[in-house]
Parts: sequence; structure tokens; C-alpha cells
Amino acid sequence: MEERPIEYCPHCGEDLIGEKIPFNLREHYSPPYFSRLKIGIYNRELDRITHWQCPIYEGTWERK
Ligand SMILES: [Zn+2]
Repeated sequence: MEERPIEYCPHCGEDLIGEKIPFNLREHYSPPYFSRLKIGIYNRELDRITHWQCPIYEGTWERK
């Protein structure tokens, strides 16, 4: 079996990885195809992702 990454939200402790997306639904998601990946907040001036956002709590935190 493929190993499932583990990461939790620093705000609410929510699982940020979630379930694996079934093959037939994957066109709606980006690789690596888990249902709850944290959201990258992109800074156009710096041209990089500076913060992450929790998909549940909607709070953000700085990228390390
Ligand atoms: Zn959260």
C-alpha cells in the first residue's frame, strides 16, 4: 500500500490530508489526489507560496 502522509492544521487540528480520491473523481483534484490538502496562498510579488490555508477552519499560517 502507498504510504499516507500525515499533517494536521495548527489552528484546529484537522487532518489536512484526508482520504484518497477515487480514480474516477481525480480530474477535479490536483496530484497527489487527497481530498483535504491545505491551500497555498500565493504572493504574486514574491512569486511564491507564503502561507497555507486550512480548508476547514479557513485560517492561514506562515509557510516554513
Ligand atoms: Zn484547520
